Amino acid sequence: MNAPRVLVVGGGVTGTSVAIALSRQGLSVRLAEREPEFRPLGSGITLAGPALRGLDRLGVLERSLEVGAAIEKIATTDIAGNVLRSISLPPMTGVNGPGMLGMMRPALQDILAAEAEAAGVDIAFGTEIVAAEPDGDGAIVTTGDDVRERFDLVVLADGWRSRTRDVLFGRVEPAFRRQAVFRAVVPKARDITTGFLFHGHEHVHSGLTPTGPETAYMFCLVAVDTKERPPRARLPQLMREHLRDFGGLAAQMRDAIGGPDTVDYRPLESFIVRAPWCRGRVAVAGDAAHLTTPHLAAGGAMCLEDALVLAEELGRGDTIDEGLRRYSERRFERSRYVVEASVFLSDGQMRPDNDPEAHNARYAEAVGFLAQEY
Ligand SMILES: Cc1cc2nc3c(=O)[nH]c(=O)nc-3n(C[C@H](O)[C@H](O)[C@H](O)COP(=O)(O)OP(=O)(O)OC[C@H]3O[C@@H](n4cnc5c(N)ncnc54)[C@H](O)[C@@H]3O)c2cc1C
Repeated sequence: MNAPRVLVVGGGVTGTSVAIALSRQGLSVRLAEREPEFRPLGSGITLAGPALRGLDRLGVLERSLEVGAAIEKIATTDIAGNVLRSISLPPMTGVNGPGMLGMMRPALQDILAAEAEAAGVDIAFGTEIVAAEPDGDGAIVTTGDDVRERFDLVVLADGWRSRTRDVLFGRVEPAFRRQAVFRAVVPKARDITTGFLFHGHEHVHSGLTPTGPETAYMFCLVAVDTKERPPRARLPQLMREHLRDFGGLAAQMRDAIGGPDTVDYRPLESFIVRAPWCRGRVAVAGDAAHLTTPHLAAGGAMCLEDALVLAEELGRGDTIDEGLRRYSERRFERSRYVVEASVFLSDGQMRPDNDPEAHNARYAEAVGFLAQEY
């Protein structure tokens, strides 16, 4: 019997991970990416324990450790730059690596892309999928060029603005969190190997994640009233203004912020698609299914876990439909917890009466939850 044919829509962290995991399972996988090449944001990413466990199970942890920056400690400073505390980050149980890893997003994407190729995934760049319709024991997809093709399974991993999801699962209206994040790639001294949280004013929260021996990315969460994005050319100046009262390392990093190409900006939004995450033979995964704020640095982990659970459930030897049902059951509640906890932390930061103890307690509880098996 021929291997089931799968189409994965979208070549971000989720799509490439799904493609790798399913291809290894012996399925025949095509990945459709609308861009002419993989094009992740140029900024950095913080990969906490659960993401490293995911990379490990996908077989790409070693290569990620070679190009990323291992982070063993997180230090918290006050606005003047005095270190208030420094905590060690133990590795996740069973993971042979640091507690956290900082990486540039393109480096992570390169590793996943190479692994997808090695696993035999047929990668179709420049292929936009405009619709996926369940069709009995398969699904029919339509490309932007109006070509229709039938697959045994389609996985929508086309990101939070997924149009294919909106058509099939109903339109998703993300909730605006009245908070936005600036992220700047900055040069840093080699001896900075710690991650930092810079405590600022009530409405400005910043931090630094090393991404390599001489690079890091600095983030700055700010309260905003609208989802409107400032012009790109103004981003460096705006970010520096938000950070103007910081001293110490935060001030050094602020002064090292470069041109508009090195800074990105995103208003924060959140949602979760209601279960079940499949319609017939079309499943949804990654940010297309759940969008969270970055407060737990868990978005990437959730994408990797979606891919691993989908492959695990489809590999149990019963029907694809049963596998999809179990995938949705296993992933929905866990993802909902992560979205709700992240939103709690984001909303709390915006409140003048934010209780730091409640914030820290919820953060610790969420970290414990994420450490559990998925
Ligand atoms: C500000 C911010 C900071 C974050 N920081 C962290 C962090 O530090 N650590 C962490 O773990 N997570 C973080 N995350 C979350 C993480 O980045 C995301 O969860 C993850 O990148 C989502 O990957 P994805 O593949 O699901 O979606 P995407 O990365 O959006 O990929 C979707 C892909 O689908 C393609 N596509 C779209 N439509 C179509 C179509 N119709 N046909 C074909 N292709 C299509 C796109 O071109 C794209 O390549 C952060 C998120 C935000 C917003």
